[in-house]
Amino acid sequence: MTKPALTLLIAAPRGFCAGVDRAIRIVELAIERYGAPVYVRHEIVHNKFVVESLKAKGAVFVKELDQVPDGVPVVFSAHGVPKVVPAAAAERGLSYLDATCPLVSKVHRQAERLVAAGKHILFVGHAGHPEVIGTFGQVPPGAMTLIESAEEAERLAPADPANLAFLTQTTLSVDDTAEILAVFERRFPDIVAPRADDICYATSNRQAAVKAIARECDLMLVVGAPNSSNSVRLVEVAAREGTAARLVERAQCLDWAWLDGVKTVGLTAGASAPELLVRELIDLLATRYAITEREVVTTVEDLAFKLPRELQAA
Ligand code: SF4
Repeated sequence: MTKPALTLLIAAPRGFCAGVDRAIRIVELAIERYGAPVYVRHEIVHNKFVVESLKAKGAVFVKELDQVPDGVPVVFSAHGVPKVVPAAAAERGLSYLDATCPLVSKVHRQAERLVAAGKHILFVGHAGHPEVIGTFGQVPPGAMTLIESAEEAERLAPADPANLAFLTQTTLSVDDTAEILAVFERRFPDIVAPRADDICYATSNRQAAVKAIARECDLMLVVGAPNSSNSVRLVEVAAREGTAARLVERAQCLDWAWLDGVKTVGLTAGASAPELLVRELIDLLATRYAITEREVVTTVEDLAFKLPRELQAA
């Protein structure tokens, strides 16, 4: 029986960003250098497949530092940690490696500088996300207010509206954030903006790549984990363009009913999803469809971040 035709428009860039690549490499090199086990506080990046692969190599994932035994190295995840975490590690004499993405660290340093300059920071982000917890942990309690929506920005009644600054999480929706920032700028004309956009290059590029193909697609499949902020945002970006969109953690999570009547599928992956999982999904689709693949490149990325000094010498 001939298989029905299915066109795949594959977004580029997609998948791993420079920060995720670096974080995974840090764990791998730490295992090579210090031997297993190497402890990792929090999922190094939000992807189960990555976490399981690193576990197989000798990484042990824990939620909190007090679960790390004395005398073994510990790695902090790409999302960043509150200042108290490295301080507690140092107090216990633990050797630690910080896999915080340099673009998250940049937001941390800006938060410190703004607070030192006496500003109150409005931080646009999602409550409970580890990056938000890490960034709030750079400044004294009360120095920063979390804003999750344009409605919250409208309702806000700051004590000193002339003395505000804003920062954002790196993995937000570019469009939703623009709405919130427009409210800030209208209501608080003196608000200090960050020197450069805090939404990182990888998040913006992946969203732009989805936008470029979404209207040509009947369905957008986003390979990524439900707790991966930038992956969930990619689903929302496609939906905003009027295209049905689904998050697919692994190929086996695909529901064939989603493909009923579908002729063109858009495919992308969040910044923490390995390309292997994209190929796995394409291979599964090919078992039932005659696939035509077309990669649509909107930007070429060539950024790479340096490893921590301790590992460069390894
Ligand atoms: Fe860094 Fe952006 Fe990747 Fe997050 S998504 S790890 S901020 S490059």
